[in-house]
Amino acid sequence: MKKFGIMLLAVILVVLTLGPAGQSQAAVKTIVDPSVTYSYGVLTRDIRELAAKYPDIVEYKSIGRTLYGREIWAVGLGTGRATVFFNGSHHGREWLTTTLNMYMIEQYAAAYTEGRRFEGYDVRGILDKTKIWFVPMVNPDGVTLQQTGLKSFPASVHQALIRMNEGSRNFKRWKANAQGIDPNRQYDTNWANLVNNYYSPRWMGHKGTAPVTTLENKAMVTFTYEIDPEIAVSYHSAGRILFWNFRTPAVNYSRDKRLADIFTRFTGYRQVSPAFNSNGGGGYTDWFIQRLGRPAFTPEIGIKRGETHLPVSAFPEEWRRNKKIGLWIAEEGYALWAAKPQNRINPVSLFLDGKRVEGDPAAFNESGTTYVSYKPLLTSLGYKLAWDGTSKSVTANGPQGTFRFTLGKKEAELNGQTVTSNAAPRLHEGIGYIPVRLLTQAVGAPFSVDKDTGMVSIKSP
Ligand SMILES: [Zn+2]
Repeated sequence: MKKFGIMLLAVILVVLTLGPAGQSQAAVKTIVDPSVTYSYGVLTRDIRELAAKYPDIVEYKSIGRTLYGREIWAVGLGTGRATVFFNGSHHGREWLTTTLNMYMIEQYAAAYTEGRRFEGYDVRGILDKTKIWFVPMVNPDGVTLQQTGLKSFPASVHQALIRMNEGSRNFKRWKANAQGIDPNRQYDTNWANLVNNYYSPRWMGHKGTAPVTTLENKAMVTFTYEIDPEIAVSYHSAGRILFWNFRTPAVNYSRDKRLADIFTRFTGYRQVSPAFNSNGGGGYTDWFIQRLGRPAFTPEIGIKRGETHLPVSAFPEEWRRNKKIGLWIAEEGYALWAAKPQNRINPVSLFLDGKRVEGDPAAFNESGTTYVSYKPLLTSLGYKLAWDGTSKSVTANGPQGTFRFTLGKKEAELNGQTVTSNAAPRLHEGIGYIPVRLLTQAVGAPFSVDKDTGMVSIKSP
C-alpha cells in the first residue's frame, strides 16, 4: 500500500513536471492537424486558411483537375525569384506525405511572419530569395479512394474500381489514380522499358498505355516547366530510404551526391544504390533528374508495415527528421540559381546630376535590367516615402505627384494611372530596388546607362 502510494506520488510528480511543457506545445494552435486522416477536403480547407492567415507569404492555385473533378492544388511559399519544388501523395495510400508538406508550409509561414528563426535557419532571408512551391496532393482521387472507398465515386464506376482492385472492396492498399494508372510510372523517362508493369488498370503498378496521359501527370509536367525549380523533392512512403540518382550523368554526380549525403544526415534515410535504381524510371524524380539535369529526391518516410498507409502516429518522428529539409533545400536551390550567368547580379555605379549616389550597391544589372536603390534617389529628388508592410508597397509623394509601387509587382500607379514595367521592384540583400526605367518615368527624369561600364546617370527634371 505504502509502496503503491509512493509510486502514485511519483507518477503525479512526473505528470506535473511534464504538464506545462506539453501544454505550451499544445497552446500553439495550428491550422494543419497532423493527427487526422488528411483528406482532400481537409487539404482544401487548410490551404484556404493558410493563405488567409499568411497573405504576404502564402498563395495557392489549381494546376489541374482530376477525372472526378478534384483540384490539384499548388501552394507557393516565399517571395524569392529562385524556386524549388516539393510534392506528396503521388500514391493514394501515401497521404501522410501530404500532411508533411502542409505542416511544413505552416511552420515556415508562421516563423516568417513572426520574424523568427526556425531550427537555426533565417526563414525570412531564405524565403525572400527562394519561393518553395508545393503540390501536397498530386493524386487526390487515389487518396480519396484509399481513405473512403467506393462511396466517394459514382456508382457507375464501382464495378470497374473493384476489378482494378482485384475483386476487393477494401481499398486500403490503393496507390494508383482512380483510372488504375500509377502516376509515378507515367513520366517520360525510360517509360517504354519499365519492368514489372501490369498491362491493365490496377491498384498499383500499371504505367498506362503511353507516358504522361493522366491529368495528374500532365498538370505536374506543365507546372514543373512553369515554375522551373532548381531542386525537387517528391515525398513517398514508406521505408526510410532516399532515392537521389537515376542514371545521373557524371558531370552532376558530385553535386547531387553532396546533397544526398546532407539529406541522409538530416533524416537518417538510407540511400538507395544508383545501380539498383537505374532499372527504374517513370517516376517524377527520375524524370526531373534526366530531363532537367537538376537534383531531385524521393524520400520514403516512415517504417513500412504492410500494403497500406502509415498511421498518423508515425507523423511526429518523420516530421522531426524532415523539419529542416524545406529551408535547407530552398537555400541550396538559391545557390544553384544564383550561380547561373543570367541570374548574376553585377553592381554598377549610380550618379544623380553628376553626384555619386552611395549604396551597397546603389544600382545593379541583372539579366539586362538595371535596378536602382529607390530610397536615396527618391529622397534626393524631394519625395516623401511611406511604407506599407502588409501590402509591401511604397507610396512616394513629391514634385511629380504620387507614385505607388509594390515589391514583386510589375504594375505601379502614377497619379492614379497604372504603369507597367518589364520587371518588378524587389528586395536584394534586404534593400529595396526598382527598375531604373520605371523610376525615371515616374519622376520625369531622363537617364542614361553607359554601354561599357553599366554606369547609370540620372538627371533631375
Ligand atoms: Zn509512393
